[in-house]
Amino acid sequence: MPSPKEILKKYWGFDSFRDTQEEIIESVLQGNDTFALLPTGGGKSLCFQLPALIKPGVCIVVSPLIALMEDQVNQLQRRNISAVSVHSGLHKSEIDRILDNCIYGSTKFLYVSPERLKTEIFIERMKKMDVSMVAIDESHCVSQWGHDFRPAYLEISKIREWLPNTPFIALTATATEHVKSDIIEYLELKNVQVFSKSFARENIRFIVRKSINKSAKIVEICSKMSGSTIIYADTRKHTKDYADLLNSNGIRASFYHAGLKSEDKTKIQNDWISGAVRVICATNAFGMGIDKSDVRLVIHPHIPSEPEAFYQEAGRAGRDGKTSLSVLIYNSSDFENLDRFLVTKYPDPNSVKRVYSLLFQEYRIAFGTGEGFSANFDMSSFSIKHGINISTLHYSIKILEKAEHLALQNYGRESSKLMFKISHTEVYKFQVANPNLDDLLTVIIRSYGGTFEHMVSIDEKTIAQRAKLPFALVDNYLENLVSRGIIYYEPKSRLPKITFLRSRVQETYLSLPKEIYVDRKHQDEERLESMKSYVTRVRCRMNALLEYFGETRKETCGICDVCSSLNTIGVTQKEFDKISTGLNIALKSKPLLPNELTSHLKKFNSQKVTDVVKWMVDNDLIEINEEEKFELKETK
Ligand code: ADP
Ligand code: MG
Repeated sequence: MPSPKEILKKYWGFDSFRDTQEEIIESVLQGNDTFALLPTGGGKSLCFQLPALIKPGVCIVVSPLIALMEDQVNQLQRRNISAVSVHSGLHKSEIDRILDNCIYGSTKFLYVSPERLKTEIFIERMKKMDVSMVAIDESHCVSQWGHDFRPAYLEISKIREWLPNTPFIALTATATEHVKSDIIEYLELKNVQVFSKSFARENIRFIVRKSINKSAKIVEICSKMSGSTIIYADTRKHTKDYADLLNSNGIRASFYHAGLKSEDKTKIQNDWISGAVRVICATNAFGMGIDKSDVRLVIHPHIPSEPEAFYQEAGRAGRDGKTSLSVLIYNSSDFENLDRFLVTKYPDPNSVKRVYSLLFQEYRIAFGTGEGFSANFDMSSFSIKHGINISTLHYSIKILEKAEHLALQNYGRESSKLMFKISHTEVYKFQVANPNLDDLLTVIIRSYGGTFEHMVSIDEKTIAQRAKLPFALVDNYLENLVSRGIIYYEPKSRLPKITFLRSRVQETYLSLPKEIYVDRKHQDEERLESMKSYVTRVRCRMNALLEYFGETRKETCGICDVCSSLNTIGVTQKEFDKISTGLNIALKSKPLLPNELTSHLKKFNSQKVTDVVKWMVDNDLIEINEEEKFELKETK
């Protein structure tokens, strides 16, 4: 049997493991329930993919996002590993076929959404599969303390009933104490082997700057620094604004957000990856699945709403281990924007209920029916039609999704897909019997390979040209073939798809459980506060972030802006904390003259007190008023 190292070389082409990967793989191979806590980009996928290649049978991977699943499935397929995914975006018949292949075929990886895992058709098939292990990616989704709680994750452990001896491996990059213990408890990990790696990124200098002119600051920083750069903007509009700003200052920049056409997105990404364009100004839609190691600078020209996202985005800098910068630029209006954001994110329950009813009405669904109904959904025209603010609508739908009333698949299908339901010989017989469809079918079979084995992307325009048929007729013909059971066909659509997961109830009976509304709002408020304090507190930035993720350490990073500036005045973090606390207490009741202040702080070294006071004046924490007295400034 090949060793893990040999497999690593053979399928991934890597020469060595990153630290902890090997121990994790070893633990999984021994059949232990295993819990891997590694930072984003730490190489978690390998930790289950590699042992799954060694063990006989199929590895079930639970993953929360269709995009993540497809990304990983594609990567595995490119390495000639047989991987498939099953999610709500697929046709029922296709799901049947995929699951059958997992029983009788040679599939090694079956990616599945947690909702699918619960379904009877899945469980019935799973019972017949030879399951080597179950990997739960992004396992923090099981915890209400995580930033992505998914109720369906709570039910994953139910499949243990059918797989009593199959090892589970849980993976996440979110390591707060609450989340950790929830993962172990709710996934029912037994005798679990826990592996974690410090989340510290020693080569990133975290810097926070307050600036009333953010644009000028962005240009200044980008001019001073060189190398590949990402600017994370808070809105789509800002991505373009920042790119225009930089281009007009002679720095090559492009912009990226989820609203762009997919061809454009690919080109923009590639130009940035190749270095043809230095700066990419993007929304948080950018980055997943992108692996560029020499990013030197990540700028956030606003305060992000949660440390998880901030650390993940900033952490895209310096994957190659070389010194890199994360710069957060803010001003006082950012604080108000954050508070406002939270109000938008949690529309009042009555508006959520109204959206619920309107959605069912839109598709004329009566009370007590609608479960499983699925249709295209155009959010912006819906919002105009009913006079609902688009953000209110968006977040109301999010809440309804969390409450499992519906699911919105956010991206449209970029290309149509097709596969034959019957064999080659049967298609031939059909062609003979239906001469009007003969040309069309011949063109499809000749133009696209693999149409008898799996869903293949097709283009109706090309087919129309080659078959010399009017474009509109091709659509008709394809639908006709579907209804006669000849093909599976999924037309492309730019619109998201909405699916009702439960039947319609009266608004008054609609429940929005505390866990998905009140509790989550509260947790979001706490996250917001953590970001505010990251920005305002005089504390080693790295340690502030690590502490949020449940990691405490004595030493400071020594390179963030706080560490550097405390270094220049020659005080340690501890001394600074003590003196500044003393100053705060002394100045809280009333402003003081310099000599009054020093007499309050007699127990400290007077030079250090003077230096800290001066530093706090320079950094806008203390001001000198008209009477020449020191006064605390409102921290914001
Ligand atoms: P995570 O899920 O922890 O965020 P991934 O599994 O997506 O991270 O891996 C991040 C990147 O690191 C991938 O491009 C992967 O190929 C690469 N990688 C993982 N392990 C190794 C290794 N041992 N050597 C080199 N690159 C690796
Ligand atoms: Mg991952």
